[in-house]
Formats: sequence, structure tokens, C-alpha cells
Amino acid sequence: MPNIKIGVLGLQGAVREHVKAIEANNAEAIIIKKKEQLDEIDGFIIPGGESTTMRRLIDKYDFMDALQTFAQSGKPIFGTCAGLILLAKSIKGYDKPHIGVMDVQVERNSFGRQRESFEANLDIAGVAEDFTAVFIRAPHIVSVGENVEVLAKHNDRIVAAREGQFLGCSFHPELTEDHRLTGYFINMAIEAKQHLFA
Ligand code: GLN
Repeated sequence: MPNIKIGVLGLQGAVREHVKAIEANNAEAIIIKKKEQLDEIDGFIIPGGESTTMRRLIDKYDFMDALQTFAQSGKPIFGTCAGLILLAKSIKGYDKPHIGVMDVQVERNSFGRQRESFEANLDIAGVAEDFTAVFIRAPHIVSVGENVEVLAKHNDRIVAAREGQFLGCSFHPELTEDHRLTGYFINMAIEAKQHLFA
């Protein structure tokens, strides 16, 4: 395998667990705390946490322009839970998106109070038919643009999708020992690296 470096946004949220999932797939993990570090990596994971807090920190540490530039470079980005909310072009009930690059509309905290957190078994296209997914105050994808491939649903709600270089899921793939979805993302980074620098 080529030497693939995956960055994890390290401003807030479930960072360490993503590092473990990346390393379990034999790629190198880099915790990103400064925007200059984005130049070093082949793919970027935005973890779960609290999207409003993460947005505040993105602004505070002046990350937004660098994130847009990274997205324009064609390198893959994987948003998990709050990370998906940050990537979405539209957030139900809000005027403006955050990074706003993936052609999906999301709704925050959309599985109801009673079900603040739960596990579900998912069939994720191209990844696994039996994936245990951990949902924590999770968003779901309300609608997708024409170039978006729906990868998984739970109770008829879209919970994982891909649009070319962008991968998003409602749940926390890093919180179990099943690292296949992270592996799928690392393959996206390998393919992009071969393609972008061919
Ligand atoms: N509810 C959080 C938000 O709206 C997301 C929760 C999570 O990332 N686990 O940002």
C-alpha cells in the first residue's frame, strides 16, 4: 500500500478513536490542529462532536478558507456525524451551511429525544452488510443531489452517502472495532492520490 496520510480535525470531538481506526487500516494518522497541516495529508476526516462548537473553533483558528481550498483540491473528505453536518450544503432550519461542499441536506438531532443514542445494524453498499453503527444525537440525510450515491439507510432514513470525493455518515464508525468504513475511505484517498498525481 502507498504511504497514505489521513488527517483528523483535532479541534473538538472523537479524535483519538479515529486515529486508532486509521492506524488499524495501516495508514498514517495525523491530528490536524493547524491549517498548514492540511498540505501534508491525502484525506481528511471531520469527526463527530458538536457542529456548532466545531464551527466556532474553525472560525477561531481561521480554518475555513483552508478547508474550502482542501475540498477544491479533489482530495477526499469524510464527515462523521457532526462532521457530516459541517460538510452538508444545506442544514434543515438553518439559513447557511458551514463548509457547504457535499450536495445533501441534513437535519440535526433527528432521531428523537428518546433515542439520544443507539446501535443499529446497517447494510452499507460497497462496505459491509453487517455493520454495527453507533448513533449519538445523530443527524440524518433528508435529501441528496443527483450525483450523490446513497450507501445506507436506517428505518428509511439515509445515514450514509458518497458524492465523489465526499463521504458522510450519521453515525460514529470509529467507536467499534469494525474499521471497514474507515478502510473504504482510505481506499478513496489511495485512488485519489493515484488519480490526482498520475
Ligand atoms: N448533535 C450534534 C450536532 O448537531 C452531532 C452529534 C455527534 O456528532 N455525535 O452537531
